[in-house]
Amino acid sequence: MGAGLFMAGITIGSLIDFSSPNPQNHDSLPIIPIEETYRDNATYAHPDDAPPDDTPLGIIIPPKEAALDFRGVRIKRGQGMMDTLVKSGATRKDAYKAITVLSQYYDMRKLPIGQALQAGYDPQGRLSSLNMQKDFDRMIRVKRSGDGYIATLNDLPSLTLTRHVQGVIDDSLFLSAYREGLPNSIIVEMIRIFSFDVDFQRDIRKGDRFEIFYERKMSEDGRRVEEGDILYAKLTLSGKPISLYRYKAKNGLFADYFHKNGQSAKKALMRTPIEGARLSSYYGKRKHPVLGYTRMHKGLDFSAPTGTPIMAAGDGIVERASRYGSFGNYVRIRHNGTYKTAYAHMSRYGRGIKSGKRVKQGQIIGYVGATGRVTGRHLHYEVLVNGKQVNPLHLKIPTGVTLKGDDKAKFLALAGNVDHQITAQKQNILLTSNQDVAMNDAGSPEPPLIMPAF
Ligand SMILES: [Zn+2]
Repeated sequence: MGAGLFMAGITIGSLIDFSSPNPQNHDSLPIIPIEETYRDNATYAHPDDAPPDDTPLGIIIPPKEAALDFRGVRIKRGQGMMDTLVKSGATRKDAYKAITVLSQYYDMRKLPIGQALQAGYDPQGRLSSLNMQKDFDRMIRVKRSGDGYIATLNDLPSLTLTRHVQGVIDDSLFLSAYREGLPNSIIVEMIRIFSFDVDFQRDIRKGDRFEIFYERKMSEDGRRVEEGDILYAKLTLSGKPISLYRYKAKNGLFADYFHKNGQSAKKALMRTPIEGARLSSYYGKRKHPVLGYTRMHKGLDFSAPTGTPIMAAGDGIVERASRYGSFGNYVRIRHNGTYKTAYAHMSRYGRGIKSGKRVKQGQIIGYVGATGRVTGRHLHYEVLVNGKQVNPLHLKIPTGVTLKGDDKAKFLALAGNVDHQITAQKQNILLTSNQDVAMNDAGSPEPPLIMPAF
């Protein structure tokens, strides 16, 4: 159980990446001045996670021009793109120009260690082309044009498959789903989409069930695989089913998850602004651990390791992000005219979090710490209704969008199609196993020669 929560906790980064809008929108990306500082930002969770330098550079699709001398290179720890290109044979001037156009499609500050590149040199030894895979199915191609370079972003061929998985929860949803072969990123996303309806600390019982239908993208050669979107997911908790379908509403900016009745899963506020944490202190009267006398505890305390990400419980505007007396490093978000949430004792603030900043639900606003008047690291979390703290556990959380009219009809058609696909996949599996049974039943007239050794 603990391990399950812990695993969910450490993979929270991918959870956030999944839900946030693409920050590298190439239409609006400004040209970023080339500095060597980005290499410090290129970090892996653990040094061993960085691909070794001798990993084959197979992911680069070689272009047709045979006259060029292609050299595969990889960004090493402590090296920037500039160093890497110069080392492979480019002049600093050419490398600078090529990186400048490349950065139209890539945020160079996010360049990871291990990123593979393919540099092409003409017979005179000049840098003539540069290819870099931006993500699973897109490649940035830089080509020499006269004295400079031009960059294009190309789609790579891929196919999308669907996968249906179901199982029984033995200990935690995370571990049970993992045993059924679901990848971490999909499990974390499943936890996220249900986090508005389910309190994962309290609602999960042994024997509860999960079901999921999701996409998996595969490169044409089958060598690269990337998990896609969850199309449908269902949890049956204490016999009560909760089903969610992915759908992009007519006025929605992004696809969201909806119940079959057309109501969005996304609530104005999440139930818990942190994953993998233990609720260590409830709302109400208690003896203050530092001051010694009894007083109201006007929030919930979540115990979690220092550095655990804290999420904005809902969309809103940061009202305060600064030191605040005994609260230490403190963030307060105004969600609407009625609701605010506050987060205290943070070790540090999330990137760009400051007063006046607009935040999205699930966005990281800070990290667990022990600043202010505390005995140990934890998140102190408050919900304020009309400026007064209320018990977050007793809150009737306001609901999100409800689909209507054409939008709802479209959603229901899509949901019906997903149900149909799942039924078809289930029947296929059944058919296959029935055939096995039939073959076993028909049997061979003689017993098999090799008996299993029991
Ligand atoms: Zn507290």
